[in-house]
Amino acid sequence: MKQKYLYALGIIILMCNTAFSGIYIVCDDDGSTPTTTKKHVISVVTDANRILRQVASTINITTDGIQYINRSAWKHLNFTDITFPQTLSDMGKLPRGGSLRIIIVDTINGSDLVGFNTRYLTVLAKNANGITFAHEFGHAGGLSDIFPRRDGLSITDAGVVKEEYMPKDWSGYYPPGLLHTNLITRLLMYGYRVPGKGDIPLGRIYGVYAPKDEDGDPLPTTKGMAPVGLQDLNRQPMHRDFDDP
Ligand SMILES: [Zn+2]
Repeated sequence: MKQKYLYALGIIILMCNTAFSGIYIVCDDDGSTPTTTKKHVISVVTDANRILRQVASTINITTDGIQYINRSAWKHLNFTDITFPQTLSDMGKLPRGGSLRIIIVDTINGSDLVGFNTRYLTVLAKNANGITFAHEFGHAGGLSDIFPRRDGLSITDAGVVKEEYMPKDWSGYYPPGLLHTNLITRLLMYGYRVPGKGDIPLGRIYGVYAPKDEDGDPLPTTKGMAPVGLQDLNRQPMHRDFDDP
């Protein structure tokens, strides 16, 4: 996919795009023991920007753009706690409109989950890396996770890569015998944590995914052309304000 991308650069001129973000490091109620350091956050954003360079996007961040939120209860965040977004909103420190909100916690749901995105904010665990950050940016911009199998659906019989599986990205320059299910593990929007993923294709790719309705809410999992590429990416994603519907 990289080969095609380089070729595509010659025929598509993308204006460079900057997405503005507010990043919030969670601390204890007394302001002590932040989940991470500003320096670490900047290094993660720098890594994410290396991936997003494929689509001429940059997440803008400065040391001043990183703030602290004192709330012990969120350090080990359980996102099934429905009061979380509202109490976060009540903190009054979050920017309104025009930017992404990213909260850095210790752990999510007591699991090895390192990030998730909602219409109001992105949450990252402190050990999330640049790949995770870029992946969640992709979700905020409208892209879906892609899987070889999920919820009883599978494309593991797809066989070797072929044009109909990636019509906008087909170059023919693929190693003989490369299985489509192996190729999708390279995609930034591959739904599992694997080292080295990060490719953003031009268009849709065949796989198992959960489509979204017009409000961005997930619909049942399906098998088909998954929106995981530039074609479906809003490169200027913004989280909604908490009092918006
Ligand atoms: Zn995901």
